[in-house]
Amino acid sequence: MVIGGGAPVSIQSMTTTATADVSATLGQVRALASAGCDIVRVAVPTRADTAALREIVAGSPVPIVADVHFHFRRALEAVEAGVAKIRLNPGTLADRGQVREVIAACRAAGVPIRVGVNEGSVHRSEAGRRRDGGPAAGIMAEALEAYLEPFHEEGFEDLVLSAKSRDAVTCVAVNRILAGRFDYPLHLGLTHSGTARTGLVRSMVAVGALLAEGIGDTVRISLAGDPMAEVTAAKELLWSLRLRQREGVEVIACPTCGRTRADVNALAEAVGAELADVREHLTVAVMGCVVNGPGEAEGVDAAACCGKSRATIYRRGRRVRTVPLAQIVPALVEEARRLLAEG
Ligand code: SF4
Repeated sequence: MVIGGGAPVSIQSMTTTATADVSATLGQVRALASAGCDIVRVAVPTRADTAALREIVAGSPVPIVADVHFHFRRALEAVEAGVAKIRLNPGTLADRGQVREVIAACRAAGVPIRVGVNEGSVHRSEAGRRRDGGPAAGIMAEALEAYLEPFHEEGFEDLVLSAKSRDAVTCVAVNRILAGRFDYPLHLGLTHSGTARTGLVRSMVAVGALLAEGIGDTVRISLAGDPMAEVTAAKELLWSLRLRQREGVEVIACPTCGRTRADVNALAEAVGAELADVREHLTVAVMGCVVNGPGEAEGVDAAACCGKSRATIYRRGRRVRTVPLAQIVPALVEEARRLLAEG
């Protein structure tokens, strides 16, 4: 797996199981991988966690990254266990001597290091927040630069950088600084961004803005709760920005208004569920009336435009039949599968 240097932007997430619980952790790693996660990070706060790593690395379909804070020996043990990368926050290690030991172990094993700074560990002033992200962004960039000194002194270049804040504006500002100052790949994400309700918007705004500017090589959409939601969100973000070829059925639905006589949302959800097994990219639209419907139908593979009691079904912009509202879902599914069969 390559990060940076023009490689496609990769999706990361982090397990929420106790890493020492090998079967639970591997179960979550595999689920994340099959949902589209490219790299999975695991926390290794204890010796029992790093002791579990060898088995986790061997059983994982994707690269495993060890997340190290406070105990540099965990990093050494993780390298020994064969992890693909170490995530290190030098701000939480006791001294540079420990950082140098980790560098030496990683160099010997050919393991890259992500050097990360979190806003919480270097800047806590809410009063310092401004519309342009400063001065927190500047302070974070300076802290990261200081963290990098032992790496430069040791001539260790196999690095990924990250600077995380819970604030979207700060995140954008600091990553713009990093992108202008360093050539290393950047890992993007907010730290403790929030629940799926608040954190999702905050993360998507910050990470999306940066990716749209061409900044960022790997992303994590940090959300409290089930990490599967992180992968779904990251995938949708990369698809939306056309940084990754979309897969599966993309269901488009109008927002509905006073003209709508059908339950557009329920129909769209049902079509998506019926076609969840499809891997090829196909676009299916459910429109609540004929105002925008025919125009929308021209640009998609299959569409239904709902009327009062019947819907018109379109295939690749061609009107093919009308069906009662109750038959919209099977009709769209049939059209989609026919298109797939025709290739
Ligand atoms: S497609 Fe029709 S029903 Fe849907 S939002 Fe537009 S005007 Fe309203």
